[in-house]
Amino acid sequence: MKCPFCGSTRLAPIIFGLPDYTEELVRRVENEEVYLGGCLIMDGYPQYHCFACRQNVGKRPVLRSKRGLEYYRCIVTGIHFRDDGFPQIFMDKKDGHIRLEIRPACTDTEPVCERQPAYERLMSETEWDDLLNLLYTELYLHEWGGFFVSRSFPDGERWELTIKFTEDRERIYRGFGGFPPYWEELKAAFRPFIEERGIC
Ligand SMILES: [Zn+2]
Repeated sequence: MKCPFCGSTRLAPIIFGLPDYTEELVRRVENEEVYLGGCLIMDGYPQYHCFACRQNVGKRPVLRSKRGLEYYRCIVTGIHFRDDGFPQIFMDKKDGHIRLEIRPACTDTEPVCERQPAYERLMSETEWDDLLNLLYTELYLHEWGGFFVSRSFPDGERWELTIKFTEDRERIYRGFGGFPPYWEELKAAFRPFIEERGIC
């Protein structure tokens, strides 16, 4: 696993409670093999501490809202992804169906690709669940920041991931030449849908 904030692999499991401060424990803490979390319950019940950015990560994929704590996998109604030069992906759950639509790539030089029409089909519940599980339990999407800007290359590749939730809520992740630590994994998650039908 790598840190969803900074990408570092300097992660250690958090030990909660008041352990015996043995020499062995002190050595393990100094070696960044474990992190002492103390006795206070941490928001989101993180499993790991990142020694690079000092964040506690590996939190449960739940959203704290006015309704209480909601599991993301229960409230996601749409996943939209676009990335310069690649086909755009739209997945929308509505009226008991999950619709997948893949629109050909848009670029600055070629705003609308006329070569191929959009590709559409229905997704199965299993496909949808598998994707949500991947996004929230393996890619830690709920712990990503919202903006990824490259200081040296702000005019670089632009991308946008929109996650729609029930009650017209949404979360948008955007990049301007910058990418989240789990970028390659995100692209890999969408790749099968794009490759399913060789779209331009
Ligand atoms: Zn980190």
